[in-house]
Amino acid sequence: MLSSVERQVFDYIESKREPMIELLREMVRIDTQTPPGLNYDTFCELIADKYHTLGYETSIHEATEKYLKLSGKTHMGLEGPRSNLVARLKGKGKGPTLHASVHLDTAAIQEEGWTVDPLGGEVTETTPYKKSIHDKGGGYIWGRGVADDKGELAALTLAAEALSGLDIKLGGDLIITANCDEEIGGVAGLGYLIKEGIVKADIGLQIDGGLEGIGLAAMGRTRFQLTTHGVSYHGQVPILGVNAIEKMSKLNVALTDYWRNTLLKRKVPAPGIDLGEALREKGVTDLTAMLNIGTIHGGVQGATVPDHCVEEVLRGMVPGETYDQTYAEFKQVLDGVKAKDPALEYSLDVINYREGYVVPATDPYALDCQSIIGEAIGVKLPFTGTLASTDMNYQVVDGGMKCVSFGVGGSYHRGHKQDENASIDEIIECSKATALLIMRKLGTK
Ligand SMILES: [Zn+2]
Repeated sequence: MLSSVERQVFDYIESKREPMIELLREMVRIDTQTPPGLNYDTFCELIADKYHTLGYETSIHEATEKYLKLSGKTHMGLEGPRSNLVARLKGKGKGPTLHASVHLDTAAIQEEGWTVDPLGGEVTETTPYKKSIHDKGGGYIWGRGVADDKGELAALTLAAEALSGLDIKLGGDLIITANCDEEIGGVAGLGYLIKEGIVKADIGLQIDGGLEGIGLAAMGRTRFQLTTHGVSYHGQVPILGVNAIEKMSKLNVALTDYWRNTLLKRKVPAPGIDLGEALREKGVTDLTAMLNIGTIHGGVQGATVPDHCVEEVLRGMVPGETYDQTYAEFKQVLDGVKAKDPALEYSLDVINYREGYVVPATDPYALDCQSIIGEAIGVKLPFTGTLASTDMNYQVVDGGMKCVSFGVGGSYHRGHKQDENASIDEIIECSKATALLIMRKLGTK
């Protein structure tokens, strides 16, 4: 049952649709697609001003060179400062510290195929695509990031505004972060804030994803860059050269065998956590290790033996698999091939990594969040997991927080694609869920 104060908060949120949309539109107009990830500083200043007026203590933290390097800065083509906003609201000292995180960067914007301005924030009454399950006729907003993850930031900010506007004093401390680079691994974003101890909390909310499920599990990943080195020669006398593409082909046969026959058997069961219909149809119901050879480049022309071949490989790590183990095992596969071919020369670089997690579906914090969100939006959402990875990795693995994830979007929002959109009703529901979680978890007495 909602208390009368909680009901007032919900009414406040409902009454502020228009200013929420205005703020979201301002956010969408600042291009923060990554790579390259420009304008993070401008974006942080906009949000810092907003939280400052709500009575929060705000600070902007730029990741140091060390974290830029770990992000694979040069390889990824990153430009501009990696700015992160931290906004803190002191409680009455009677409760845990809660960290609510959203990411301020967006996926890349395709040059073609958009029917709306991707940086426009246009509002329409309805959608030609699939509808949100939370759509009550409140319309849709369009543009890169409206569902992933700027709509979530608008929802969270509206929740914070309702609490401040109604002068509700929280028991514990609240830390809100708008962190960068999530789409490329979050190393210089939430990774930096948590590993450097800038953000420390007992419990967390990762407000990213959709409002069709509550995320409890995700995979980790390591991005490798693999290079083979050969000896160039005239292409009609290849016997006098060493073909780097042929050597890479051998390595790729071994890597394919490794993932199909070894990694696919490496599973971490996640009872009570749904990985989605597409995977279920493939018979995958557990978190499962995988590997993807994502790019390959080499050679200059048919008449020259290539002396160089380079590719990127992404290795999906199940929760519990560490970076060190993953690296050692990967190298073992490559060295197994090299042992049988002395002319094979390779080098292996790591672009970046983050480790996976699973919060059990029986975890009291997860169950409590599920029931609070259900009370706020009138639907009990199932627990879900993903074979991708999110910034919640840092909260759980590095920050030791209990955490759940939810957000705006789901099966309809076209995140990362052309015509990304978000249901305005759903942003409002996400805001209510967030406000109620903050009040119940931090206490208001
Ligand atoms: Zn996201």
